[in-house]
Amino acid sequence: MSVNPQAETMGFQTEVNQLLKLVAENLYSNKEVFLRELISNASDAADKLRYQALGDDALYEGDSDLQVRLSFDKDKKTITIADNGIGMTRQDAIDHLGTIAKSGTQAFTQMLQSDANDKKDQHKSELIGQFGVGFYSAFVVSDKVEVNSRRAGMQPNEGVKWVSGGDGQFTVSNIDKAERGTEIILHLKENAEDFLNDHRLREMVRQYSDHITVPVMMEKQPEPKTSAEEKEAEKEEKKSDKPEWERVNQANALWTMPKKDITDEQYQDLYKHITHDYRNALAWSHNRVEGNLEYTSLLYIPENAPFDLWNREGLRGLKLYVKRVFIMDDAEHFMPMYLRFVKGIIDTNDLPLNVSRELLQSNSVINKIKSASVKKILGLLEKMAKDNPEKYKTFWNAFGQVLKEGPAEDFSNKEQIAKLLRFSSTHPDDAEQSVSLGDYISRMKDKQDKIYYLIADNYTAAQNSPLLEVYRQKGVEVLLMSDRVDEWLMGHLSDFDGKQLVSIAKGDFDLDDDKDDEAKQEEKKQQEDEFGSLLKQMKDYFGERVSEVRLTSRLTDSPACVVFGNDEMSGHLQRLMQQAGQEVQKPKPILELNPKHALVLRVQSETDDARLGQWADLLLGQSLLAEGETLENPAKYVKDMNALLLEIGK
Ligand code: ADP
Ligand code: MG
Repeated sequence: MSVNPQAETMGFQTEVNQLLKLVAENLYSNKEVFLRELISNASDAADKLRYQALGDDALYEGDSDLQVRLSFDKDKKTITIADNGIGMTRQDAIDHLGTIAKSGTQAFTQMLQSDANDKKDQHKSELIGQFGVGFYSAFVVSDKVEVNSRRAGMQPNEGVKWVSGGDGQFTVSNIDKAERGTEIILHLKENAEDFLNDHRLREMVRQYSDHITVPVMMEKQPEPKTSAEEKEAEKEEKKSDKPEWERVNQANALWTMPKKDITDEQYQDLYKHITHDYRNALAWSHNRVEGNLEYTSLLYIPENAPFDLWNREGLRGLKLYVKRVFIMDDAEHFMPMYLRFVKGIIDTNDLPLNVSRELLQSNSVINKIKSASVKKILGLLEKMAKDNPEKYKTFWNAFGQVLKEGPAEDFSNKEQIAKLLRFSSTHPDDAEQSVSLGDYISRMKDKQDKIYYLIADNYTAAQNSPLLEVYRQKGVEVLLMSDRVDEWLMGHLSDFDGKQLVSIAKGDFDLDDDKDDEAKQEEKKQQEDEFGSLLKQMKDYFGERVSEVRLTSRLTDSPACVVFGNDEMSGHLQRLMQQAGQEVQKPKPILELNPKHALVLRVQSETDDARLGQWADLLLGQSLLAEGETLENPAKYVKDMNALLLEIGK
């Protein structure tokens, strides 16, 4: 290897420096991660070469036996990870090892910073690989990292050497490198020297890299000899012999094995490899499909949400293999958005090896695999909900809000998705989202034919809404919703199992079981007569501020409430849209009065017009506040209220 003096020293991008510091601090107690990340990069490099060589066999340079070699030198205190994968050009090294263009960096930095004091979950820093910055974990154990690389298909004198002490800068120079691929030499820090141990390294490879499909080789260790003589002879032999390499990891494509031969632990190891997650998967589904279409799918449901779950542009999707050959990561066409948390592998014989992302977009094979895979996941969840509610709760807490996008996105599976939804409810009266629509229906009252729900800005507001009063009194269950996605969900879920879903914040009060009761009807009529002029006076006073003032029987404890017409936006949705910066044409609320409430009776007997206006404002104001609305003129509201309080005191 001769070094060309054309050396160039450059500074890391600012973000890289920041990152290096954080990584060093945070991975301190999980140093082992470096090996997993570097082997993972070597395996990626092998995959990339295999893929590119599909179109250009010459890239193999006569050697298609792809592997990773792991070795160490006790005297020099180095560990070397060498691969014969795709390799890097000088520019590649500068671009990929010195700057980070990917958005993951910032997210990773933020996560570490926010996490810095959280000792409970120190393992979080192990997620480094998920953010596309795994290479930098090399500096956790190294004072100096040396990378020698040559791109497949280029001349031996077109190699590059990249060296850095992780201290703000790196140097690149040209080198001769006969073998294609990348060799990473870690000059270990003093406190990392215990990694210079054959047994330890083998253990780590088995633990972290058993299921990458490229073989990880280590030098064969000599059998222990009994006599000193034999040892001598061995030494002589070794000097002349080339080292013998043996495979340390299993390096088989696990998903191609029969299910019965695969242990749970192996499934979990593969999950960790493909997701860079250190935690176990919650559940998985492994399917081999034969016949018209031939493919294998191995789909995992993680236990925790990834950092970019809410970034709809973020990377997602499955790993795609065609006839065991890795084709691409994050093939997003196999899962709909509302199942974007699903991870795993699709390996099919029915796509061409040179398949591109564009082709994936409109391909009938993909669509068939997709719809079958969606069914598998929904089935898996349904079974989990039935057999293991605790586990399902974990799932729901992590991904329930994403699943709620389902009914809008996937019409054909709407009913099945609806079965999987969980809500807070007035039965039991707690915030936990644990009630299914099926549970609700099983508890419905005799004459009840609708499923009632209420959407508010948060759980507490929903739980305390005056709109619930009569439902509580009559023991009719109401689902309580406050997730951002709920309006969207309910806009697409108008019925379930033949029952209409109805918002109690909209339209007429319809829990009226008194319709056929003549005495009750008579009482109503009387109330209408009695309060008729008050209602009219109030409406005249409000003018355009409300669309109607009317009596209601939906209240028991509160004097008044506001609702909206059936076709209007709910107050909650209006506020969501305003928060999102959208112009909202606010629909006018309907003010409803409780004719049995003492305060309403007091207002009815008011003779002073000015005072009546104050009362009217007070009733409308408090109803809007209870709904979660902000008042246009809060100071006037307070003033009115104080004036009226003093009045009562008189
Ligand atoms: P990621 O693997 O998620 O892209 P890393 O920080 O682990 O992020 O690696 C950064 C980049 O460096 C890789 O995407 C690749 O382009 C390059 N790289 C790292 N190791 C190798 C290698 N052994 N062979 C070829 N390229 C490599
Ligand atoms: Mg990587």
